[in-house]
Amino acid sequence: MSNAGDKVLAIKAKDWRASNGKSNVTSNSEICSLCDLDSLRLAGASAFANAAVRAGSVFAKFFVGSVNFYCVDVTNETPENNAINRTRGKCFPITTFRRLIAHTRLTFLFTISGAELLADAARDGSEDAHHVLAVMHFNGSGGLRKDKDPEAGAALCVRGNILFNSVAAKRELGHCLQDGFGVERDAVLGKKLLQEAAAIDQANGVGMDVAVVAASAAAAEVEEVLRKRNDINTLTKAIDAAAQVAAAAKTAASKHLTKTSTQKFLLDWYGECGNLLLPGTTLCSHPLCGRVETRRHEFRRCSCCGRVRYCSRSCQSADWRLQHKFACLPLLELYGWAESDTDSMDDETPGMPVGTPGVDA
Ligand SMILES: [Zn+2]
Ligand SMILES: [Zn+2]
Repeated sequence: MSNAGDKVLAIKAKDWRASNGKSNVTSNSEICSLCDLDSLRLAGASAFANAAVRAGSVFAKFFVGSVNFYCVDVTNETPENNAINRTRGKCFPITTFRRLIAHTRLTFLFTISGAELLADAARDGSEDAHHVLAVMHFNGSGGLRKDKDPEAGAALCVRGNILFNSVAAKRELGHCLQDGFGVERDAVLGKKLLQEAAAIDQANGVGMDVAVVAASAAAAEVEEVLRKRNDINTLTKAIDAAAQVAAAAKTAASKHLTKTSTQKFLLDWYGECGNLLLPGTTLCSHPLCGRVETRRHEFRRCSCCGRVRYCSRSCQSADWRLQHKFACLPLLELYGWAESDTDSMDDETPGMPVGTPGVDA
């Protein structure tokens, strides 16, 4: 159990609460899921995963931490559950997280069990946990808008790049450097990191570039058919046409990309299992991501169309290349909306350039 990894813990969202078939937290789990004694009362797959956490599996800490943070904690943000979360936070030593990022201001994280587990996994050397913690810092996830800490997020990416030669960290940091987000702007170094990330992906057979080519080909085919019809002359028709093109691109791209077990769990939790998002919140628009907003307007919107939201710059860049440029640009071209400023209402940082030369890896 202490070595349980991705394959052992490929748990389905619908099995998480196997005892009663409910995916949401039951009265049994209104207790700390991190203490040995209490977690024995959890049922099914979640008990299995928590046992792996107790056995010391680093991957289990990352997986259960992600599930708790983005599914269980988030969907239980009622006043009573906030009280429960506060007690949960006391079960793990705060110093765990303090040791990891000494200068962080995110004290709110200590009240949420998922965040504690992720911090523990990062301390134990989980590359994935470094990345998700960076994204949480960028967004102030689990806290308020004022809890955003781009510098701490970028510092985690620097650490991930140095310790693990992490592709995700290189990509995130590359975008931060290009945008001057959390670090001093350095477009050249940013581009270099993005190229490094793309080269590692290619060497590992990750089909991002192949997926982009397939998506573009599929989009061009549908676009050609629509153009021949020559009747896209209203805003509604343009949006509809763009959606069709983007859908074709998404379908073609998905054949070349695979979700991790964690991404699959998060997507299923809010998808096929029908767990409701908090009112006014949304999933990251990258089709493979699965992260959700923990408060309204947490994620940044596409600054061109404002119709999609992303948890991170790397998710936005990837989704842009795979599908969103087909759904976003036609509107701009048709109606000259390129100047409209619909950046995140939740953010005062400079708008995230979409599809700007140099953004794509
Ligand atoms: Zn857009
Ligand atoms: Zn995302």
